[in-house]
Amino acid sequence: MQVYVSVDMEGIAGVVHVDQTRRTGHDYERARRWMTLEANAAVLGAFDAGARAVLVNDSHGDMRNLLIEELDPRAEILSGSLKPRSMVEGVAAQFQVALFVGYHAGAGSRAGVLDHTYYGKVVQRCRLGHDGVPLREVNEALLNAIVCGMYDVPVGMVTGDSTTCAQTRELLGDIVTVQVKEAITRYAARSASPEHARAKIREGARHAVQRAAARELRPYRPAPPHVLEIDFVNSACADAAELVPGTRRVSGTATRYDAPDGEVLLKVIQAWTILAGSTVV
Ligand code: ZN
Repeated sequence: MQVYVSVDMEGIAGVVHVDQTRRTGHDYERARRWMTLEANAAVLGAFDAGARAVLVNDSHGDMRNLLIEELDPRAEILSGSLKPRSMVEGVAAQFQVALFVGYHAGAGSRAGVLDHTYYGKVVQRCRLGHDGVPLREVNEALLNAIVCGMYDVPVGMVTGDSTTCAQTRELLGDIVTVQVKEAITRYAARSASPEHARAKIREGARHAVQRAAARELRPYRPAPPHVLEIDFVNSACADAAELVPGTRRVSGTATRYDAPDGEVLLKVIQAWTILAGSTVV
């Protein structure tokens, strides 16, 4: 049993503001330690359930947040950017389950702590449809699950705030969700203590890995094409995104793309948002 872990930061217990999630923020050094220890809780839960290898992918910001010396030495860490598969770089058929730790609600959610989708500065809304499934609002857990599904890896657990957990259950169905805080507004939450959150995550990871071992989880494999539509914050962002070949402009601020698979989907999201970000003045 090999386990893949992707770790973001906005959905970590105690985190409610960018002052904690940006490298230059005052509380960043504390929050990155909370993030590391929640990642480690998932690692410990995986090993509790009999995993023999765990890969941890640092999935937040510049992807150099995790304190490697504080992770269980049995785990390997994947860090740094740019990564073509971004938050799920390194996922492969050798893994039996993926665990998403510290995840957050999709852009435009009501009461989601630090809600955004991939690049909050430019993405106002992100919708996705599939062959036979109309466009609907999605979050990063759903987008990343599609890439995992390409390798037959099911997502077994998502941790984060109450809104993230509810969205993920609605989008991905029957998986373990671990709520570490109740979102009150975008910048406020009622949080479990870091220690209690870690205990819940360790237990959730153990349960998710056991379910994967019992083959109770199914990979998420919606039928392509995956129709991606992003509303940007202004038309300059959409002008820039439209430079990516195959992109269609659907309104002043929105672009659309029919992606044949999850990896192309993530590449287009990154190309669009990097280009759109270059227009921000
Ligand atoms: Zn993040």
